[in-house]
Amino acid sequence: MENAVAFVNAFLADEFAAQKSVSFERNYDLVTDKVRKVDAYFRLASGISSGIGRPKFLPETMLNRLRNQGDRMEQRRLFVMVQHEQPDMGRLFRCVLSGGTIGANDNFAESLWLGNLGDGLQILTRLAVCVTCNSTGLHRGEKCPDCGASGWLHRGGVRIPDPGRLSEVGRFIAPVDPVQKEIYDAMGEVAPS
Ligand SMILES: [Zn+2]
Repeated sequence: MENAVAFVNAFLADEFAAQKSVSFERNYDLVTDKVRKVDAYFRLASGISSGIGRPKFLPETMLNRLRNQGDRMEQRRLFVMVQHEQPDMGRLFRCVLSGGTIGANDNFAESLWLGNLGDGLQILTRLAVCVTCNSTGLHRGEKCPDCGASGWLHRGGVRIPDPGRLSEVGRFIAPVDPVQKEIYDAMGEVAPS
């Protein structure tokens, strides 16, 4: 668990540095270095990347827009990390992160699955919080039609249908939203079998 927490914290710091660079750095080669560094966290999983970058040549109006976006950015937060023992894939970790802009950093925005594919930890899967049900899986008392009751929307990478036995939970910061706070408190509780 400690390794996975350190991995995610390093990812979040490198992600923030790359975003800042895209917004404020004039030297395109320096931007590319930062983006490559953050994309390396996804190097073994297909279909996902940091999503960070900018074209080499941009008009001044676009650069201004990027600077304005950069002013609103904050490093994302790690709320919770859950460790699973998957029979085929080995130890997997699921973490829940905030959104990374002012006003979106207090609540759930994304969930990542991490695993070891033979070359150290990697980000395997990205999931976005389902805004229809606010991650509860329920919409007007019924199974949420958008996320199929999981509370999350698949945004690329490996699909993990059964993550296996839950073996450890680390809680770091609680989300501000009271509904999400309940989910946070219940995460990692083993369902009675
Ligand atoms: Zn939903």
